Amino acid sequence: MSNCITRRAFAAAGVAAAAQTLPLLDTRLASAETEPGSLTADGFPTLPLRPYQLMCIVCRIGGGCSDDLGDPRLTAILAAVRQDPKLPLTLRCNVDTVYRYQNPGHAEDTAEGELFNAKRDLDILQKLGLVPGDTRPAVDMFARLLEKVPQALGICGYETATSDTWRGCPQAAGGNYEKGHALGIKALIPPRDAEEMAEYKKKSAAAVYEAQTLRIRPHHLLCMSCFHGGKDKLAPIAADNLFEAIDVIQKNPTIPVTLIAGVCMICPPCANYDPVNRLCLGGRSMALRDQKKDLDVLQRLGLKYGDTLSAKELYQRLFERIPSTRDICAYGDGEARSPEWSICGSAKDDTPYQKARAARLGIDM
Ligand code: SF4
Ligand code: SF4
Repeated sequence: MSNCITRRAFAAAGVAAAAQTLPLLDTRLASAETEPGSLTADGFPTLPLRPYQLMCIVCRIGGGCSDDLGDPRLTAILAAVRQDPKLPLTLRCNVDTVYRYQNPGHAEDTAEGELFNAKRDLDILQKLGLVPGDTRPAVDMFARLLEKVPQALGICGYETATSDTWRGCPQAAGGNYEKGHALGIKALIPPRDAEEMAEYKKKSAAAVYEAQTLRIRPHHLLCMSCFHGGKDKLAPIAADNLFEAIDVIQKNPTIPVTLIAGVCMICPPCANYDPVNRLCLGGRSMALRDQKKDLDVLQRLGLKYGDTLSAKELYQRLFERIPSTRDICAYGDGEARSPEWSICGSAKDDTPYQKARAARLGIDM
């Protein structure tokens, strides 16, 4: 059975219906507005699950399952995640300590007993660098699992069964988790449809060329500079509209640019772009870093969302006030404090930005 499906194919298959019957999807506190800019949340809908269930989903995918994982709870979790990859997942497990406020009870313990269940969940949390009760968007949670937990040995079972209590899961040495791990995130969460991305590229690139005013999120002005890298000749790429925005600005340096929040004219062809919700689903909570970068750029420039300046004026101010991408994309001190606050490669070595800055992005300033 193929594990390769796309988001479009998944929706068409109607598997989403399973998610609606998910027993523990807690939406009681949900009160989020959906309008960008007025987003508030007194509580939020979250899907609570045990850490081991993340691994079991990967294990069953590795064993050849696709939508039906042979366990209603795991099947429902996977269906909910595939329907909405940004769904918040909350990892809950049974502990004796101050974190017991989130204890889920033992109803979903597996047959190997309470002690083994408690240790397996804590082993997983420790490898993930998370604590009981931590919540992350599903796409980030599974990506983190795949990055930090390459094998089941030592978590789901041990080299030696020191007693019956520590016999572990019978599947632990079977290799299915490792097979599921090798299939990667695409086997869990359908990627964006390639044809759809190509359509979006065509339409959104044309929109950049037709625009009277460019609408760009602040930190993408920096990304455009890194993409430029001081080169005389640039070429478009399929994954975004950075080239097109630079091309338009080079041809018309006085074109107005409005600084906007969230995804912008650069984004529609990107594999991380969610066209339905108009959100970025980039890895390791990219959207979180990006919002901070946007606000940092606005603060440096003394501007706010909605402000419009000519491209030339904007880049004059940007190159004058932001001498290095390290100031924004490496948080000034270069310390990646967690996976969510990782540092972009172009900030570790800011040579491309420096070259673009020296070349003034190829604009006559
Ligand atoms: S080895 Fe067992 S507990 Fe571990 S992921 Fe596989 S089925 Fe789940
Ligand atoms: S990664 Fe996110 S912000 Fe960057 S181009 Fe793609 S959708 Fe836009």
